[in-house]
Amino acid sequence: MTSSAPSAPGAGAKPEPQAKREGDHRPVFRFAPSPNGHLHIGHAYSALRNADMARQRDGRFLLRLEDIDLDRCRPEFEQAIFEDLDWLGLAWEQPVLRQSEHFSLYASAVERLQDRGLLYPCFCSRLEISRVVSGVRDWPRDPDGGPIYPGTCRHLPLEERERRLASGQHAALRLDMGQAVSEAGMLLAWCEFGEGEEGRDVRAEPQLWGDAVLARKDIPTSYHISVVVDDARQGITDVVRGKDLFDATSLHRLLQALLDLPAPRYRHHDLLRDATGQKLSKSTRAKSLRSLRAEGVTAQDVRRRLGFSS
Ligand code: GLU
Repeated sequence: MTSSAPSAPGAGAKPEPQAKREGDHRPVFRFAPSPNGHLHIGHAYSALRNADMARQRDGRFLLRLEDIDLDRCRPEFEQAIFEDLDWLGLAWEQPVLRQSEHFSLYASAVERLQDRGLLYPCFCSRLEISRVVSGVRDWPRDPDGGPIYPGTCRHLPLEERERRLASGQHAALRLDMGQAVSEAGMLLAWCEFGEGEEGRDVRAEPQLWGDAVLARKDIPTSYHISVVVDDARQGITDVVRGKDLFDATSLHRLLQALLDLPAPRYRHHDLLRDATGQKLSKSTRAKSLRSLRAEGVTAQDVRRRLGFSS
């Protein structure tokens, strides 16, 4: 039996979406796509991995829609996610957690960090940042290749900051990384577990990200804040996701320590690549599951191709 469409938002009294269940000690896995495009075979791999591990370990399998980016996420992509996962033969618990329905929770996590003086408003545009860094040879880059923030707004005099805020200038909130790392006060690590092998401790290196944005100018949160809040709230015990998010886990561990949230175990699986070795992604126009389906590929074919028994 596969799952049906989600309950309509706002219909009747809503149960708390897939919240942590006290007294339930089963492992909890999740697949957390962003409905900003159609799922491709790389997503199918990640979803199947999670569902398979949950099944093998008598665990729970949750679906979470990471749709905080209201400009890029669309209801039709959300619906397509349900259809595609259903087609793959996956079943997930209802109701589904939609992050866009929980902005206030993320905002309060941001506020907690702000109250501790760990965040500062940043008025810089991307262009301004790139102007500052482009003149400097070998400017340090974060693991995603973006320039490390030069710290311009960290050094703004308080009056200047307040004047700009009072005049209605939009600001992102950045983490003062130096301060945050020293406040976390310990060496952070996470448990990376492998296929049948013992987990190994990986040392977290959040400073690789510099003063990361934790609340964007246009939305009161960021992927990093929302993901750690929801992983904790849903009692996720095992985060299974692609290696492209391996380095982000350093930042997630820091936020978990600062916000006093439990740390799940992590498994970062290999990414599927196309014939040229490029990582499959929406931006590289990887073939969507629905277009494969339209070509007559069956869910069985996909599962088999990805190494899952059908
Ligand atoms: N929403 C993220 C994505 O679609 C995944 C986040 C995660 O698994 O932590 O890439």
